[in-house]
Amino acid sequence: MELTYRCPGCQQVNRIVDPSPDRPLVCDGCGQTHSSAPQAIRNGALQCCPFCGTEDLYIQKDFPHRLGLAILVAGFAVSTAFWYAMMPLATFGVLLATVFLDWILYHRVPDVTICYRCLSQVRGPGSNPERRFQPFDLAIGERYRQERLRLEQLRSEQRG
Ligand SMILES: [Zn+2]
Ligand SMILES: [Zn+2]
Repeated sequence: MELTYRCPGCQQVNRIVDPSPDRPLVCDGCGQTHSSAPQAIRNGALQCCPFCGTEDLYIQKDFPHRLGLAILVAGFAVSTAFWYAMMPLATFGVLLATVFLDWILYHRVPDVTICYRCLSQVRGPGSNPERRFQPFDLAIGERYRQERLRLEQLRSEQRG
């Protein structure tokens, strides 16, 4: 399992292979240490966010949305060119191939598990044991977004 988290101190993104409560998380950027949640991984299965201990996690395809979109746009452009060249079979062939490629990619790409609270990411076997984590839920996401906003506001008030 691999944990990716953003250091709250310096915003550096760190990757930790096999996070364990015995080893504190050390930031590559500023050296700040952060203890990982002791209950996060049980028998190789992820229970909660290793960084902040939140049990609300969601899964997402570990695949940049922009890449999927780029494939569709490229396929559409090529098929349009064939259409203007009056080659209807090639047009539909390209369209079909594009949709098929997108479908294959979508089903082959593994999931990444993401923490609603701190947005840390966990990849690899055991990151979604028995499909316990579900795709992003707007209601839960909004709750944590509000919390982040309040925290930021509090911080800026303390500074000012
Ligand atoms: Zn740092
Ligand atoms: Zn977290």
